[in-house]
Amino acid sequence: MSADDPTLNAPQPCSICSEVRALSEQLIELGLAANYLGNRSTYTSEHGTAMIQTTTIGDWLQLAAQLENVEVNTWKFESPDAAIYCGTWADNIDDHSKHYTKHATALTRFIFVCNALEEAYRFIDYLYSPMAALKGIAKGRLKKTSSLRAVVLLDDLVGRIGAAAVPRNFEHHCENFIKLFNQYKAEHSGTVSGIDAGAENLPTYALQLVRNLRNHVAHGTFPLGPPQDYGGYEDSEELVLMLRHACRVSALYIQIILRWFSTGFESCDYNSIRNAHSKAFDRFLEQCTLEYILDLHLKSDFALHQDPYVYDEEEEDDDIGIVLYRPD
Ligand SMILES: [Zn+2]
Repeated sequence: MSADDPTLNAPQPCSICSEVRALSEQLIELGLAANYLGNRSTYTSEHGTAMIQTTTIGDWLQLAAQLENVEVNTWKFESPDAAIYCGTWADNIDDHSKHYTKHATALTRFIFVCNALEEAYRFIDYLYSPMAALKGIAKGRLKKTSSLRAVVLLDDLVGRIGAAAVPRNFEHHCENFIKLFNQYKAEHSGTVSGIDAGAENLPTYALQLVRNLRNHVAHGTFPLGPPQDYGGYEDSEELVLMLRHACRVSALYIQIILRWFSTGFESCDYNSIRNAHSKAFDRFLEQCTLEYILDLHLKSDFALHQDPYVYDEEEEDDDIGIVLYRPD
């Protein structure tokens, strides 16, 4: 887990988790990458045909990354006299504000990330029917929703390409989320649906749980209690932590989708960089690749959200043997 993530019963992040970027950085990197791709595809459903764009995925992810606080003010309908006459009551109201602000922020970020995920499902949906035909999947066993079709496409991809298809330490990050989800499911009698027998052993199991969690949030069954000290759930901190891990894992699945199902970088921004002539842009083109997208959760010197066109002139000076003198 990164510094941005609360740790799970551990004072220090493990060596794998300390390699990853803060969640907001992972989300902004992926959002910008989706925008640089600028891909389109056509999605057909019973409601008609729609044009799907990776920039829509990018826009939702950027919003999720930029989100700081969804503020809940429990003072709003309280008498301001409460603070004057009773300190304990004022603390109570303050505690509720902080607690619900934390939950509202985590829930809102998760919904934004889910919106990106839904668009990513639709982005690859056109690939499902040809794959199903190729594999001879019987008509009665065909998946009907884009989310379940994406699950099949992803399992098929990993089956063909193997471990190289998934981001580095993918399983570890999925496990972190699955563990929290299982605790949540046991504690709050959470239900899961649409998961076939044996799915726990497939690379899309965490995605299936994210899909179920999204439904719990969207349908209002996600637990929303007061702070623990005021009779709320004992695991309310873990619920927020689970939502953050769900965002991390969702981003990893979008990384897989964009890495393997994209047709390459096609946006106007990317093309104008390709047509420009400068060492800074050359470096950008070398680094901003589909391979980078797969592992953009890892800490790196290169980042789309920092100035990606900065070119270190010292490198060039070293090449030609000049020693720079810097006055103090
Ligand atoms: Zn770890």
